[in-house]
Amino acid sequence: MTSFLSFAELCKKVECVSSTLEKIDLVADFLVKLDESELSVAPGFIMGTIFSSGSDLVMGVGPSILYEALARACGCSPEQISSMLRATGDPGLVAAGVVQMRKPLGFASFIGGEQLSISEVYQRFLAVAHASGKRSHDTKIKNLQFLFSQASPLEAQYIARLAIEDMRIGVGEGGVRDAISKAFAMSAEDVERAYNLTNDMGLVAVSAKRGTLSNLSVMLNHPIKMMLAQLGEGIPAALQELGTAAMEWKFDGARVQIHKDGQKVRIFSRRLENVTASLPEIVSAVKANIRANSAILDGEAVAIGHDERPMAFQEILKRFRRKYNVEKLAVQIPLRLFLFDLIYLDGKSVIDQPLKDRRALLETIADPSLLAKQVLSNSPKVAEQIYRQALDAGHEGLMLKNPSSVYAPGKRGKNWLKIKPVMETLDLVVIGAKWGEGRRASLLGSYRLGCLEPETGMLLDVGWVATGLTDEVLSDLTEMFKGLIVVEKGMELELKPAVIFEVAYEEIQKSPNYSSGYALRFPRLVAVRDDKSIEEADTIERVIALYKAQRGRNSSA
Ligand code: AMP
Repeated sequence: MTSFLSFAELCKKVECVSSTLEKIDLVADFLVKLDESELSVAPGFIMGTIFSSGSDLVMGVGPSILYEALARACGCSPEQISSMLRATGDPGLVAAGVVQMRKPLGFASFIGGEQLSISEVYQRFLAVAHASGKRSHDTKIKNLQFLFSQASPLEAQYIARLAIEDMRIGVGEGGVRDAISKAFAMSAEDVERAYNLTNDMGLVAVSAKRGTLSNLSVMLNHPIKMMLAQLGEGIPAALQELGTAAMEWKFDGARVQIHKDGQKVRIFSRRLENVTASLPEIVSAVKANIRANSAILDGEAVAIGHDERPMAFQEILKRFRRKYNVEKLAVQIPLRLFLFDLIYLDGKSVIDQPLKDRRALLETIADPSLLAKQVLSNSPKVAEQIYRQALDAGHEGLMLKNPSSVYAPGKRGKNWLKIKPVMETLDLVVIGAKWGEGRRASLLGSYRLGCLEPETGMLLDVGWVATGLTDEVLSDLTEMFKGLIVVEKGMELELKPAVIFEVAYEEIQKSPNYSSGYALRFPRLVAVRDDKSIEEADTIERVIALYKAQRGRNSSA
């Protein structure tokens, strides 16, 4: 049985070294020693993901629950915690500090008591996630309180960070994948493939240890990473690339992956969260109109207004977020399903079949009313026409897909090209905020944005967005971010990275003031993308590519 202390020591070491390769080596050396049950949770712990998305479990712990548990476990006051937070800006260090000061009785029991194991910490997290109903807040606090009362300062540091799923040790998904590959001598591609198929790093690690990685495949009821589209450079160039293309509207909606298992239907969002309860009409449509015993379907949910045009994207997100009184909102914002792909059918994965065959199968099982129309053609004229129709109908543009391509989970490549008219926006993580002034003093008025450094999972700031926000929007956002406040310093707040803003801007400039080295000029909030997860935020590489592309444009002008 591996102690949680050794996990915490690993985290400390990983946090202290700056080289990515060294980090990966340390993690690999640690993973190789674990037994299977520990190996099924530790890789997720390292990334700060406690439960895989197929499990339906969420921690539901924000900074306020964490601080309350710490205060109760260590007998200190909320004021003490706030002042330590102001000094360190890090919930992990606060937890370590608070545990260090713990009243002697608790500390003695730690010295004499049993050491926490990785599995025990996981069991407590399970109890936190299972807490439901009226007393859930209290149950969550009690379980965390127990852990803090048993923990040494170093353990507390990482229990706190795990509880709010923000590890800050500079190892992201890619780093853990590489560590698994090194630990068990598997190719990085095989590990990545297995992860994209199952979305469960623990399962991938255990399978790598057993040497059964290649047996992993698509699993019903486990969300698989969605295939993504690359931006095409206009219709003629895209068709030159693809030859004959499968042409579809690019719908203005939100992605859904639907798992039909007999009469049971589960729907996952683009972030691979289970959103079934929020989308009852899609559940009914699938039950009534898909003739298959089991299937995994890929498509877009679109909110269609009275004028038969798509409603604003924010309206759809309201539906995805709503957990109670769903039926009422469904009347105001009715959703329609447009299916464009098939991943699994009657017990078998079909991802290795070409798109044209998957489409043919989809047509045999789905009622035409649920299908996204598709035209096979190599004609730019036809593509132009479909593109126009889509835009005239209020949708986003055109998708051009390679009919011979396999379904590539988690991949953004040339086999799906999107054509759309607007300048590319950036999807950035909100990492901080500032209180407004005067009339807006009780509202968070501007937001600090970060882009992703994929190798480390770190967020590098690219400036602030403040414009494009009405008082009504600000007050909604303030409510949303209140639960994510990590630390407050004067007018400025640090926020738990959990929300993505899609931001438009005039230009990207170089800037020594921000850790990314770049800043957005005149940024404007386009949408709160809570359909996207933090890993899907735009990367520093993309910011640099857009910066270079715009320089090219400017210099040729
Ligand atoms: P983007 O979000 O700009 O990367 O564009 C890709 C997204 O377009 C997908 O994730 C889908 O949600 C959406 N989409 C709309 N229509 C289609 C379609 N016909 N095929 C694939 N994706 C589509």
